[in-house]
Amino acid sequence: MNTDILIIGAGPAGLAAAAAAAGSGLQIDIIDDNFMSGGQIWRGGAHTQSDPRALALWNMLNNCHHVRFHFQSKVIHASHKNDEIEIIVETQSRLEAQVFIAKKIILCTGARELLLPFPGWTLPGVTGAGGLQALSKAGYPVAGKRVIVAGTGPLLLAVAASLIERGAEVTHILEQAKFGQLSRFALGLLATPSKISQALKLGRSLKQVIYHADSYVVSAQARVQADLTTHAQEQVGSATVSILGEIQEIPCDLLACGYGLIPNIDLAAALDCKLEDLENYEKVVVNEWQTSTQENIYCAGEGTGIGGVDLALAEGRIAGYAASGQNAKAQKYFNDRKKWQAFAARLHRSFALRPELKQLCVNDTIVCRCEDVSYQELRKHTDWRDAKLHTRCGMGACQGRICGAANRVLFSWKKDAGRLPLSPAKISSLQDLIKS
Ligand SMILES: Cc1cc2nc3c(=O)[nH]c(=O)nc-3n(C[C@H](O)[C@H](O)[C@H](O)COP(=O)(O)OP(=O)(O)OC[C@H]3O[C@@H](n4cnc5c(N)ncnc54)[C@H](O)[C@@H]3O)c2cc1C
Repeated sequence: MNTDILIIGAGPAGLAAAAAAAGSGLQIDIIDDNFMSGGQIWRGGAHTQSDPRALALWNMLNNCHHVRFHFQSKVIHASHKNDEIEIIVETQSRLEAQVFIAKKIILCTGARELLLPFPGWTLPGVTGAGGLQALSKAGYPVAGKRVIVAGTGPLLLAVAASLIERGAEVTHILEQAKFGQLSRFALGLLATPSKISQALKLGRSLKQVIYHADSYVVSAQARVQADLTTHAQEQVGSATVSILGEIQEIPCDLLACGYGLIPNIDLAAALDCKLEDLENYEKVVVNEWQTSTQENIYCAGEGTGIGGVDLALAEGRIAGYAASGQNAKAQKYFNDRKKWQAFAARLHRSFALRPELKQLCVNDTIVCRCEDVSYQELRKHTDWRDAKLHTRCGMGACQGRICGAANRVLFSWKKDAGRLPLSPAKISSLQDLIKS
């Protein structure tokens, strides 16, 4: 399928990019591996959200005859072909892979959660913070369950609020950042009044929850089965936590623990876009027009660095206008982007990870859950490649998406990004790939 502009990711950045580019009349195609538009924050469909920006974008795009959506479609391969870009997509509803040839592409592949291992983190009932939010939005029952939400960042508040909305009893929010850092972040919100009203709204729905700064989960324990003859599956029953340096055990039915977000950069890396190395992750390098170091490849949203929905929308608009030759319109969003970039910088400073989180694993703590590789086995190695070759760490179903990021924090190992195919694919798709 040939197209003028191919957008990967139908989250806020991808939708904003498509809406901006749509005015040019060019053919625009949007690919996303989800069932619907919306990405992470507008999960369940942009058309179902209370945020009016989501509905406005969806309505506008849904009525555009030269904009096509391709859902449940996952990019598995990407390459440069002369002046164009070839993207190979595996679609759930089709047997054969689909090939897109685009003049320009805009990467809006978003972010995923950073999960850090601790003893007991593989117990059923222990999830990422955003992970539990996504599960509950998809129907996983949380009503009546006692939940501890832990980790770092403002996402913890949004997660707790959305779990409470679905009937969960969120007992604690444990934020690893220290109180002083949080106070400075709160003061900084004066520069972005819309975030203050958002914080106040969240505060109202979290009135019953105990919030601790300077606190983190040390380990999780399984519930002791009262009747040992039953074969009920082990489940988390409590968390041992450090609250202001004091160790306590808190009972829970679910433990949702996430240490912020990291950009999805594999597709950009596969297309040889330059990445910038930050402390815990890499991000795509872009210029003022959101163009990557590769001609005709743009990037917007969390891929260029974690900044939240407002920055994703501003960058998406700039990328969409610039890719469709409407630079004057793109320029109008430069100030907006600058404002949200400043917010993002404050976010990073305030929620930097504390060193204690690197010391939580014990010898038998599993770090790579796909291949059951323990902390003890990994410690013998000097880098990611060495560990991978000797232990199969990162070679399972998630291809290091979880343990690769964790190992970067634990051992400062850099994972090889952008290996193709980008994710496990059907044999028939791989055969199509060889043919193309
Ligand atoms: C689990 C989670 C929960 C979050 N919850 C909140 C919240 O409650 N409140 C809040 O303010 N912020 C939340 N965020 C942050 C929020 O998602 C972002 O700020 C915002 O959505 C960024 O928009 P984006 O368009 O850059 O990325 P995203 O919204 O992440 O959209 C990226 C899209 O690209 C798709 N994609 C990625 N790779 C491929 C591929 N290879 N092939 C096809 N499709 C692909 C993804 O499926 C996704 O739909 C959450 C983030 C995560 C990871």
